[in-house]
Amino acid sequence: MNTEEPVREIRINPVVPSESVLVATERGLRPRKEEERVPHDTRVHVASCPFCKGNEDRTPPTILAVPDEDNWEIRIVRNLFPVLGTESDQRSLSLGLQQVMDGYGHHEVIIDHDRHGIEVHEMQASHVAELLGVYQRRMRELLAMDDRIKYVLVFKNFGSAAGASIKHTHSQLIAMPIIPENIYNEIEQSRNYFSRHHQCIFCNLIDEALTFEATIYNRDSGEIRRKIDIGQYIVEKSERFIAIKPFASRYEWEVHILPLRHQSDFTLADQDDLADLAGVLKRTMQRLDRILGGAQYNYYFHTVPRCDIFSDCDSSYHWHLEICPRTTVPSGFELGSGLFVTTISPEQAAARLREAL
Ligand SMILES: [Zn+2]
Ligand SMILES: [Zn+2]
Ligand SMILES: [Zn+2]
Repeated sequence: MNTEEPVREIRINPVVPSESVLVATERGLRPRKEEERVPHDTRVHVASCPFCKGNEDRTPPTILAVPDEDNWEIRIVRNLFPVLGTESDQRSLSLGLQQVMDGYGHHEVIIDHDRHGIEVHEMQASHVAELLGVYQRRMRELLAMDDRIKYVLVFKNFGSAAGASIKHTHSQLIAMPIIPENIYNEIEQSRNYFSRHHQCIFCNLIDEALTFEATIYNRDSGEIRRKIDIGQYIVEKSERFIAIKPFASRYEWEVHILPLRHQSDFTLADQDDLADLAGVLKRTMQRLDRILGGAQYNYYFHTVPRCDIFSDCDSSYHWHLEICPRTTVPSGFELGSGLFVTTISPEQAAARLREAL
């Protein structure tokens, strides 16, 4: 594997071309500050933890509990320190070039599991499926009850650099009256692509990744003529989902999981989809854990927003889950230029992830 030729190239993100990545695998670029690893917290119950069983009175009241409040395995509560709140009404203030919009929205915490330190890759696949179902259900509920909400971002932070302030395993959900820029760019660009090619760019990227699995036969003799480097960017594949190491991604070990069948809206995925996704997510997290053990990460869902200007995006947008391990601290060059540096090639990262299990 070390025989790989050094790579130094700028790769353009095919979905959002304004995002590009410098892939530079030569040694000299390596001494970057490593992000701290999180020691594995194996504790099942911590008396002082507000998210542990028996301490329910230390959090705001339960919004949703699965299977029920007494025997909960997953629980949603309002965030005690919300970044957005419902007390303000949605008005925007304009002061010349500096625009301000009131921080209207809902910010909730999803306690992923009743076991304090359990990590996603250690959870039962059936529990992960349940958790995905809870994400989905709450997204639907918020969109149905509050028509000011345009987007519900579900995300998980693991580790303090990744934003997790409480150690107990949890995710968060922020329902907001605007469409976040990352999603806006993806939706807009994929719609442009669709108008030119009449195809979903995400479906095309999946097809491209899958065709690398092809074996080319000689038509006359039936002999194998050439086997193409098997699924260079594929990390994991199931009946319904695929985990891909993107060709141009900002984080060295970033992995995206997408449904194989075109679907724009995560909240429309059915029970079988969620059960299948749970397996792919668990195994992907296992692979990342094998290689990066204890690395801090974020994952988040990107799905079609509820918004008039994007009501025509069912064919052009494709929901997905992005997993971004944080292995290095972004440098001034990266923050200043927006050009993120990757010192391992995405092809090599994918190969290592495939070999990890
Ligand atoms: Zn706890
Ligand atoms: Zn698609
Ligand atoms: Zn995305």
